[in-house]
Amino acid sequence: MALIVQKYGGTSVGSPERIKNVARKVEKFRAQGHQVVVVVSAMSGETNRLIALTKEVATNPSPRELDVVVSTGEQVTIGLLCMALEDIGVPAKSYTGGQVKILTDSLHTKARILNIDEAPIRKDLDEGKVVVVAGFQGVDEHGSITTLGRGGSDTTGVALAAALKADECQIYTDVDGVYTTDPRIVPEARKLDTITFEEMLEMASLGSKVLQIRSVEFAGKYKVKLRVLSSFEEGGEGTLITVEEDTNMEQPVISGIAFARDEAKLTVVGAPDKPGIAYQILGPVAEANIDVDMIIQNVGHDGTTDFSFTVARGDLAKAVKVLEGVQEHIGARAIESDNTMCKVSIVGVGMRSHPGVASKMFRTLAEEGINIQMISTSEIKISVAIDEKYLELAVRVLHKAFGLDAQA
Ligand code: ASP
Ligand code: MG
Repeated sequence: MALIVQKYGGTSVGSPERIKNVARKVEKFRAQGHQVVVVVSAMSGETNRLIALTKEVATNPSPRELDVVVSTGEQVTIGLLCMALEDIGVPAKSYTGGQVKILTDSLHTKARILNIDEAPIRKDLDEGKVVVVAGFQGVDEHGSITTLGRGGSDTTGVALAAALKADECQIYTDVDGVYTTDPRIVPEARKLDTITFEEMLEMASLGSKVLQIRSVEFAGKYKVKLRVLSSFEEGGEGTLITVEEDTNMEQPVISGIAFARDEAKLTVVGAPDKPGIAYQILGPVAEANIDVDMIIQNVGHDGTTDFSFTVARGDLAKAVKVLEGVQEHIGARAIESDNTMCKVSIVGVGMRSHPGVASKMFRTLAEEGINIQMISTSEIKISVAIDEKYLELAVRVLHKAFGLDAQA
């Protein structure tokens, strides 16, 4: 007998029929003698609908009340799933985040889990019940409802699995695992049997949307056995996210290719080349709460230098405004911006022991005439900023060059 935490995402519970389907899946596991804790998202589209509703009554709703509203989607699904389970003879009990007591900090709309009281859940499990917990939500020390950020049900699932020391945390979604890249762009993309936490973390933060980043961090930290699988296809093994590297010699050096579409580049042209300039430029940007991604400072000439960085496209207008203030202050020549950038990244722990990965990446892009505008690297990833019109081409040629295409 194992204790399994299963998380079902919005599309998996997107209609009454699908909720009944989840109930049947859960029942199957229980019939095999396992204890099952289920975490559910809101029905697909529901969280967006709730957010839109809040915008209709207020231009700037308070984060506390926003959480009161957006957390309700999950409350509906836990109740419906329990009813569907009981309807097929499975005893079940629902819990909101606050009822479990998933204690979080008070950072509304992006709260962090501090503690989970798993005792009541354990008692229900021992009595033979399936426990169904609302994802994405918790409660702070003042008793206010909090939410964990978009996609936060993944984190609820992993955190519960950690607290309960579950044998496995299964994330059921509309894809059957983690792919080498988005199959909508590269039809030859392959499902990975395993991927390391480190790689998954890079993939998630570089734009792959399979799992919420925080859930991967959590799983890595607490060594939760995490698996991504399809809720629609039976029998698949999905992708196991592992601590250990696959030591198979045939394993490709690169595990996956991630990309982010909506990037923008800013350049401070002719900034004085002297100590403190990077700080004078990026300090105000950080104060404006804008995340900076890649940064380049060029070699100085005649006492001036060009300083470029990328931000999410949605932050571009705000960043330009900040830089215009900076320009005057430091006496730079101009501010230039480009909102047609994207970022393509190759990820793989194999990079650590294989030289020449970067040059192969650059050669592959050069052969297609794709100009690299910025580069950033870490131990296990290389990212380039390129013109967005080359995004699909770049992903496709890199996928092939690094041997990731599925064998026909
Ligand atoms: N319902 C929330 C969202 O749409 C949380 C989740 O689905 O993970 O972001
Ligand atoms: Mg999700």
